[in-house]
Amino acid sequence: PPLYKQRYLFVKQLVSRHKPKKVADLGCADCRLLWLLKFCCSVEELVGVDISEDVMKQKMHTLSPIPGDYLQPSEKCLTITLYQGSVTQKDPCMLGFDMITCIELIEHLEAKELETFPEVVFGFMSPAMIVISTPNSEFNPLLPTETFRHPDHKFEWNRAQFQNWSQAAAARYNYTVEFTGLGAPPPGKEVGFCTQIGVFMKNYRKTDEHDKLQENKEHVYKTVFRVVY
Ligand code: SAM
Repeated sequence: PPLYKQRYLFVKQLVSRHKPKKVADLGCADCRLLWLLKFCCSVEELVGVDISEDVMKQKMHTLSPIPGDYLQPSEKCLTITLYQGSVTQKDPCMLGFDMITCIELIEHLEAKELETFPEVVFGFMSPAMIVISTPNSEFNPLLPTETFRHPDHKFEWNRAQFQNWSQAAAARYNYTVEFTGLGAPPPGKEVGFCTQIGVFMKNYRKTDEHDKLQENKEHVYKTVFRVVY
C-alpha cells in the first residue's frame, strides 16, 4: 500500500496491541485514520482535532453509523468527536487519553507552534502513549521532489534532528521513546526510513489530571461533529 496507508495501518496495529480506550488523532485532516480506528474493539472514545474545519468536514459523514450498525448492535459504545482547534492550545477535553497520534503533523507547525507543542501534548494532554511521524529528509535524494515533499512543510528533519528533539521532549516530560519507520530504503542506501516514527510511552500512569482539570477548565476547542454509537 502507499506510504500514507502504511502509516494508518501502523497506528491500527499499535491500537490492536495496546488496546487503548481513548484515542485522539491530532491534525486528523479528512479523518481517514479515525475511520480506520472506529473498527478497533478496544476503542470507546475517538477524538480528532484539526486547525482546519473545512478539511475535517470533507469526509466526516463516514464516521456516522451506517444502518447495519443499528441492525446488529454491538456491546460496546463508541463516541466520536471532532474539534476544530490547534495543538498549541490546552483544552481540558484532551485530558485522560491512552493514546494520541500526530501523523505528519509537526512539519506543518511554525517555529513558535513547534516550541509550544511538547508542553501541550506531552506536558498537558500527557497521554499514556504518543505516536509522532514526520518525513526523514535523508530519504529525499531518492525521491523525485527537489526541495520539501510538500509546499506547506515548514521543515523536514534528518534522523538525528528528529531523534534529538524527541529525546529532549521525552526526558523533560518523563516518557521513554523508541524509533522506527516506514518505507525502507533500497539495499545499499543507508538513509533510514522514508517516514520516521517516534513511539513515546509515559513512564508512570497516575498523574495529577484532577489538578489539571481544576486549573484549566476553559474550553477553547470548537466541537464540529459528535456521534454516539
Ligand atoms: N494526519 C493526517 C494524515 O496523516 O493523513 C493529515 C496530515 S496533514 C499533512 C497535516 C494536518 O495538520 C492538516 O490537516 C492541517 O490542517 C493540520 N494542522 C496544521 N497545523 C495544525 C495545528 N496547529 N493544530 C492542529 N492541526 C494542524
